[in-house]
Amino acid sequence: MQVILAKPRGFCAGVVRAIEIVERAIDLYGAPVYVRHEIVHNRHVVNKLRQKGAIFVEELAEVPDGARTVFSAHGVSRDVENEAAARGLPVLDATCPLVTKVHIQGRRYATQGRAIVLIGHEGHAEVEGTIGQVDAPVYLVSTEADVAALDLPEDAPLAYITQTTLSVDDTRGIIAALGERFSDIVGPNVSDICYATQNRQTAVRDLCRVVDMLLVVGAEYSSNSSRLREIGVDAGLPSYLVADGDAVDPAWLKGIETIGLTAGASAPDELVDSVIAALRKLGPVTVSQLDGIEETLEFSLPSELRNVIPPAAQASVQIPAE
Ligand code: SF4
Repeated sequence: MQVILAKPRGFCAGVVRAIEIVERAIDLYGAPVYVRHEIVHNRHVVNKLRQKGAIFVEELAEVPDGARTVFSAHGVSRDVENEAAARGLPVLDATCPLVTKVHIQGRRYATQGRAIVLIGHEGHAEVEGTIGQVDAPVYLVSTEADVAALDLPEDAPLAYITQTTLSVDDTRGIIAALGERFSDIVGPNVSDICYATQNRQTAVRDLCRVVDMLLVVGAEYSSNSSRLREIGVDAGLPSYLVADGDAVDPAWLKGIETIGLTAGASAPDELVDSVIAALRKLGPVTVSQLDGIEETLEFSLPSELRNVIPPAAQASVQIPAE
């Protein structure tokens, strides 16, 4: 079998930063450190941090008074920020700067007197945080049909913003539908909302042209990982989302010679390695990587953590040899 890896794949700068914040906070302040919501949507990452001393909670009410608290990469609502401030909780904010950028866009449009149309998935942590960051009515749409169903006048002053784990390609049709239905709608340049989502999707599209099957490493509840698998399905390939190598079903490989392999933005490369190891148990495997975009972006850490260099943080961002 031939395995071709997508480039880029796996961890993005926002995920690397969020994990480092938790690891360095544990190093600097000692365990436990409380993390509101899963720091990134990957159980493997969460379990490793749990072993190091992170305690994951869904609500701030579960955090004891005075305990060091981290907000996840997905961001939080103003209510959550205010609750933490009212309780005097020492907070480290691991919200991805690109999510914060969407919050700022939404607030700017709200000050212009516009209602907000948020393109995203209901119930996703990022969407809930973004809705709670904007002082204006927010209408959530996920499809063009949702746009058609919006109960708003044609000339309502509106602005759209998007969930970061949707790419330009995902949102193009919805934005076009909004423009056709509403005469006074503005929006940001979506092409710069999240470089990582777009790059991973572009890489998978290229990969799908040269493979017989697609494997995506990621959690089933990871929005961007699911989307990568859908791209494989749209390309007409058998496409599977796997948490790790144990999830690979040998029956999938019947008649398959070339496997495309990628990983969602919250999936570490060691899980990609575990998939390759699982395939090697079934027969000889050669591994190569399709040429793609070289990502160099890094986000700075909160100033109080910049001088802490835990060995564990170093290990978490290493890319294993291919
Ligand atoms: Fe940030 Fe994009 Fe990564 Fe989400 S996928 S954490 S928005 S860089």
